Amino acid sequence: MNSALNKSARNQSAPHQPALNLVNVTLEYPDGEGTLKALDDVSLKVHRGEFVSLIGPSGSGKSSLLAVAATLVRPSSGLVMIDGQDAGGLSDAGRTALRRDEIGIIFQQPNLLPSLTAVEQLVMTQRLRGGAVRAAEKRAAELLDLVGLRQVLAKRPHQLSGGQRQRVNIARALMASPAVLLVDEPTAALDHDRSETIVRLLRQVTDEFRAATVMVTHDTDFVPFTDAVAGMRDGRLSATAAPAAAAPRLG
Ligand code: ADP
Ligand code: MG
Repeated sequence: MNSALNKSARNQSAPHQPALNLVNVTLEYPDGEGTLKALDDVSLKVHRGEFVSLIGPSGSGKSSLLAVAATLVRPSSGLVMIDGQDAGGLSDAGRTALRRDEIGIIFQQPNLLPSLTAVEQLVMTQRLRGGAVRAAEKRAAELLDLVGLRQVLAKRPHQLSGGQRQRVNIARALMASPAVLLVDEPTAALDHDRSETIVRLLRQVTDEFRAATVMVTHDTDFVPFTDAVAGMRDGRLSATAAPAAAAPRLG
């Protein structure tokens, strides 16, 4: 693939340092008289090029983990390190910049703006970073081509299928070549075949962009596309394991 699309190919200053490093992260919410631990002493390292699936029952803390990793929610205690930077030590503006430049966020609902074409969805996020329009348009078209949307560059969300909208969402998250990709139930609104296409695409972009990707999924069929699986229960994370070890044994 065109390496100009991929900032991370040039940024190899600390190859052994995890792009995402959560260290003893606890997140508490007030709950009546007491507190609820949405995250309870969670530690997780994800390196560039590594694709981790995160599974667990509803309410176990999966979305909370992504929100903390995305620096959208500050943990009650513990460290959130993004590409070696301690997010907790930054000002609000510093954290916003870190998020914009290093973190790609892909949630279940693509959350596209109804009036913008596919290209414009991507260009707008780049303009928020202060990039030049012409360069952003070129990159947007290249990324949309990469995710298989070359034919629909000028279409608006209502003219796209659910799977196509999710692919626009993925392309948009790649505009800054983020070090970390955080993906929450990306296929919840899609049928099985379209879901598999999306997970294969996430595998491909994790490899090509050398992103550290964490995907929450309720569908264990997709775990084999990932390098490791971590389970959450009651805010606690089990040790990550290779997907094969997590699969049911045959015979
Ligand atoms: P999951 O994504 O695994 O379904 P969540 O991370 O959304 O789980 O939620 C974990 C726990 O934290 C749940 O008990 C949920 O009710 C609680 N929780 C999540 N967000 C908030 C919030 N903003 N305020 C209070 N409690 C919350
Ligand atoms: Mg959730």
